[in-house]
Amino acid sequence: MTTGPGEELVGELVDALTVDEAAALCAGFDMWRNHRVKRLGLGAIKVSDGPVGVRGDGPIGSGTPSVVLPCPTAMGATWDPALVRSAGEVLADEVRDRQASVLLAPTVNLHRTPLAGRNFECFSEDPHLTAELAAAYIDGVQSSGVSACVKHFVANDQEWERHSISAEVSERALRELYLLPFEVAVTRARVWMVMSAYNRLGGTFCSEHRWLLTDVLRGEWGFDGAVVSDWGGTHSTVPAALGGLDWQMPGPPTRFGPPLADAVRAGEVPEDVVRAMAANVLGVARRTSLLDGERTPGEVSPESPERSVDRPEARAVARSIAAASMVLLGNRDGALPLDPAPASIAVVGPSANLAWVQGGGSAQLNPRSTVTPLEGIVARFAPAGSVVVHEPGVLSVRSMPLLDRRHLEALAAESPGVAAAMTGPHDEFFLTAEYYDNPEFAGAPVSVVPMRAATTMWGGVLPPGIEGTYWARWRATFVTPADVPEGASVRFGITSAGPSRLWVDGTEVCSLWDERTPGESFFGLGSVEVTADVAAEPGARLEVVFELSNDGSPFVSAGQVGAGIVPPPDGVQRAVAAAAAADVAVVVVGLDHDTETEGRDRTTLALPPEQDDLVRAVAAVNERTVVVVNAGAPVLMPWRDEIAAVVQMWYPGMEGGHALADVLSGDVNPSGRLPTTFPAELSDTAAHHAGNPAHYPGVGGQVHYDEGVFIGYRWFDVRDLTPQWCFGHGLSYTRFEYRDVELNVVAPLSAGVLSHDERPGGEPVIEVSVTVVNVGDRDGHEVVQVYVAPPVGDLARPRRELRGFARVFVPAGGQVRVSVPLDRRALAAWDPDAQGWVVAAGTHHVEVGASSRDLRASASFDVAP
Ligand code: BGC
Repeated sequence: MTTGPGEELVGELVDALTVDEAAALCAGFDMWRNHRVKRLGLGAIKVSDGPVGVRGDGPIGSGTPSVVLPCPTAMGATWDPALVRSAGEVLADEVRDRQASVLLAPTVNLHRTPLAGRNFECFSEDPHLTAELAAAYIDGVQSSGVSACVKHFVANDQEWERHSISAEVSERALRELYLLPFEVAVTRARVWMVMSAYNRLGGTFCSEHRWLLTDVLRGEWGFDGAVVSDWGGTHSTVPAALGGLDWQMPGPPTRFGPPLADAVRAGEVPEDVVRAMAANVLGVARRTSLLDGERTPGEVSPESPERSVDRPEARAVARSIAAASMVLLGNRDGALPLDPAPASIAVVGPSANLAWVQGGGSAQLNPRSTVTPLEGIVARFAPAGSVVVHEPGVLSVRSMPLLDRRHLEALAAESPGVAAAMTGPHDEFFLTAEYYDNPEFAGAPVSVVPMRAATTMWGGVLPPGIEGTYWARWRATFVTPADVPEGASVRFGITSAGPSRLWVDGTEVCSLWDERTPGESFFGLGSVEVTADVAAEPGARLEVVFELSNDGSPFVSAGQVGAGIVPPPDGVQRAVAAAAAADVAVVVVGLDHDTETEGRDRTTLALPPEQDDLVRAVAAVNERTVVVVNAGAPVLMPWRDEIAAVVQMWYPGMEGGHALADVLSGDVNPSGRLPTTFPAELSDTAAHHAGNPAHYPGVGGQVHYDEGVFIGYRWFDVRDLTPQWCFGHGLSYTRFEYRDVELNVVAPLSAGVLSHDERPGGEPVIEVSVTVVNVGDRDGHEVVQVYVAPPVGDLARPRRELRGFARVFVPAGGQVRVSVPLDRRALAAWDPDAQGWVVAAGTHHVEVGASSRDLRASASFDVAP
């Protein structure tokens, strides 16, 4: 891997470290930085969460404004490494703006169950698609001099008992599925950091798993970067250090740092091991130019204030990825595109005018700006002459959305603390938080801090001037939208980890001051939400005051205020009437970042029933009903035969509304393809088959991956099940034909065990060629998918596996010859007896198609014994 003068410097520095300093380097100082070693002039390395933006220091959802790219399942749906690489480049700039050097991304766990809370954060159910996109993402980040950190190593495929569950997975399934994206990230993309997973693997915590971190990662794959623990996921000192973990996060240290130095002195960990760990951590500093001054002095300084820079090119990338990711699932009688622009469009549904642009958890950002589906449709179609009306029908959320900045008055530039807190010219603040040192809120506040969003979660770190217990008062002005219909109300909701209560216009409307029912907010530290409805007068200014304390839990404080507009009691009738009167009805349904979030799995594949009911009611009155699904993972669409068209929009990032309009209008011809199977029933999936809790969510602290290598479409194929929408599916506004498929053997091929250094993406042995003809009248992109079906042999093999793909542009009436290489690993399976990758003798079939169930051509080749 990279060598150079910097490496000598690392060697010298490591030799110069005392044991205490070496151990300190390997531990966090605070949430995002490791320890510096001032004596040697070593600064800290700052890391920051991805994967769709860069969160920076602040609490989840209210930190420095960030770009928000489409969620990784959306990136997965592009099947386009070049686009995903551009995402990495955009993110590298943002990492530097946050004064950081490491992006904690990409997430490459697989969609084993469609319910997993973090599926939106992972690309796909398929390891090959995941690996190719992850490699491109890492390349984009690291070619800009910022370190990626691929996570979570490994089998972190559910949130249930995520801190302790033991994934019981066969070595074969690990090798063929769950390890593969990491293998490619290390051996091909040369990733500089790996994050170990929270869970256990075969009984041992991943953060101290020697086989995983040392034998496989470093030994077999040659990893020479640093392994960081997931936050709070280090469970020991000696086993973790000897197992292969280099860096405990976050700080202050509990396992590394002083306890690690003590372990060296006690003879439990050899000093060489700790020096090697420190060298790995310093290697990240070297590679990100923190050591050698290659970077412009002062450009990145982990202790300096974060910046927020609005780059038009970043928005353009966000929009083009979002548009390329949308999957046209169904389109009866050419209901889409809306070209020419219809005279009238009814935009209905609870998600039409909410900015559900991202999933929840550590990945959640404070977006620099957002475009809702309604805003995007109005911006595109109103100038074209369409009359656009909007009726949400229902409010349908798991908890109230955070106070929407569109409904809040921004603080004036001269408000206390605003000038000092600004991270860029477009930074805006909407709440003032006054911190007091007494429960009576007596005297002057100790500290006054402007806030961008009505949410906070502090772990140990408190606002300036506050030590220990505080009582805070947040103030904001909420302006009811001017177009709320008569009879609508504003539903406020609060949740907190300590006492809190909400006042609206001087009246206390909800309280968690004296009693709280433990709930699931704030990773299970918060309470159940309490809500109150306040009459909504159009354009009314409501003074909102939220009081929050960490009394009783000084080290954890969290609180949040949300609000949603509740349509009048006849909301559904209004939506149906609007739909009936319009040429086209666009119904936007979906989930939210409280339903799809880190920390919790979903409990159902279904949309909330009121959303399904609304779709049906609209479809009954408008033949041209287009449903847009705003969710990061599969949902059931029981109405799919009753509507004209359906678009899977995912969590589309900050430019999502514009990208949706691009696709609906036909300005962009949809080319997204499902990166994951959408089952017709949960019980059709491998992990939920027969409802055995040992397979999901787990029993006695173990979850058994008994389906082995048969997840996703591999399971649906071998069981002959019909999914709701199959892996790889997606329509276009044009039609493509596949002609003249041809296989060329370009390198010697023989059966048997492959050499250990044969990696995915190695030398091609077969070239698969096919001509794609665009027989329609619109230009478009086609995603050619190449599946390999092995001969029947001793190992039970999937019926077909994705081994190659290419997204190609084909002009209307034109044709393109596409060539997809297959390497030896594309033909091989992991044989547990041989402890290696084995190519079986016999006839292998190559199937080329537009989805895993729309195979257009096949060819075969023989491998001699
Ligand atoms: C998540 C990681 C994340 C880390 C830091 C953990 O809860 O699992 O993905 O990088 O927090 O926020």
